[in-house]
Amino acid sequence: MVNKVFRLADHSSVLTAEAVIIGAGFAGAATAYHLTRRGLRDVVIVEQESLPGVHASGRNAAMVRQVNSDAGVAALAREGAAFIRELASQLEKKEPAGFFRQTGSLLVASGIKAAQLREDAEAARSAGVPVERWDRETATRQYPVLEGAKLELGCFCPSDGVVDIAYLLRWYLEAAQRAGARLILEAGVTEIASRRGRLEGLRAGKFEIHAPLLVNAAGAWAQAIAGLAGAADLPLRPRRRHLFVSGPLSWVPRDWPFIWDLSTGLYFRPESGGLLLSPCDESDPLPRYEASDVFPEAPEILKEKIERQFPALASLSIRTGWSGLRTLTPDGRFILGPDPRLEGFFWAAGLGGHGVTASYAIGRLAADLILDPSANRLNPHRPGRFGGEPAALPQKTS
Ligand SMILES: Cc1cc2nc3c(=O)[nH]c(=O)nc-3n(C[C@H](O)[C@H](O)[C@H](O)COP(=O)(O)OP(=O)(O)OC[C@H]3O[C@@H](n4cnc5c(N)ncnc54)[C@H](O)[C@@H]3O)c2cc1C
Repeated sequence: MVNKVFRLADHSSVLTAEAVIIGAGFAGAATAYHLTRRGLRDVVIVEQESLPGVHASGRNAAMVRQVNSDAGVAALAREGAAFIRELASQLEKKEPAGFFRQTGSLLVASGIKAAQLREDAEAARSAGVPVERWDRETATRQYPVLEGAKLELGCFCPSDGVVDIAYLLRWYLEAAQRAGARLILEAGVTEIASRRGRLEGLRAGKFEIHAPLLVNAAGAWAQAIAGLAGAADLPLRPRRRHLFVSGPLSWVPRDWPFIWDLSTGLYFRPESGGLLLSPCDESDPLPRYEASDVFPEAPEILKEKIERQFPALASLSIRTGWSGLRTLTPDGRFILGPDPRLEGFFWAAGLGGHGVTASYAIGRLAADLILDPSANRLNPHRPGRFGGEPAALPQKTS
């Protein structure tokens, strides 16, 4: 067991906390919100950037989607979506409308993906999510933009929609701060100290923070954080996804659902008088590119998919684009729970493409597991599923 101790640094401010959270994206913010709500007052969030939500949490498509293939992810997505709708109805009483546009979603597919979508929609329906199954004719009649597309099945989910991500992230952070949490910006974590397999603290910018609990909510950098700490090396894969916005399109109504073709891997929804579109790419985050850059080949991938599947959109022109890093896991579940190797090191990472929708539930589950680690046995997102869990006791043979 390797002890990791701080190097002596000049001019550092020493803080103590009950918990220190690395990352002010949705994972870190929602975890801080729930921990402070559940009675932890002394929570510190450290963020390397000068603003929260600069990475995936500020560059995503803002869609709230409840129909998913993995039961563990789908359960948290349903809980997260229910919270967003509830918050929207509270806010409507005092704030300008627009925090959540409940436009619904239309997932479409053909072939093997249609069979999977049928199953996922059925599972969602059994769990209480209203889902309508549409055949090709119905889907095309409702949304003529689908004319010419290859599709066998459409699943319309009226309680999905589009959320104001900047507002939601700020809401978690401000609620946590009102309950006593401290947010320290421009404080990149460079060292993590541990002794005899237990976490002791970390260095972030000019701060040395002593805490018995660290929450790794560092998104695409979560593996690097684990490496600094000597925690488990888990199979996280940061992958780049591009988003583009078209020029104005007078024929696109603002209340369209988001339309996601699961077979081609392409989605679009109304945005800024035109459409926001993604070719659903999963490129490697090459070191020579910034986390937000547009790869030169990405517009071509989008164009090719549009021409192949949505001829009605073939003539649209792209006004702008950007990208962000989604952090994927081999089984599509999250990495949420205590590290199998280092005591006091807790993971809230690997949120893939669901970190907005499920944010409330991710923070809630993280707080549950931190306050009652015995709940980890039943947790489908536990980090130890990739190895390193204590071996099961041998079965008694009588
Ligand atoms: C293009 C795209 C579209 C998406 N669309 C959707 C969608 O429609 N709906 C949906 O639900 N989800 C969507 N997602 C997924 C969602 O955005 C993510 O799951 C979620 O934002 C991940 O949140 P996070 O807090 O784990 O990561 P991040 O938002 O990346 O936050 C991690 C934070 O950790 C900080 N950090 C890293 N290293 C350090 C360090 N050493 N010291 C201090 N701070 C550090 C980073 O600066 C960053 O702010 C999309 C993602 C992308 C990229």
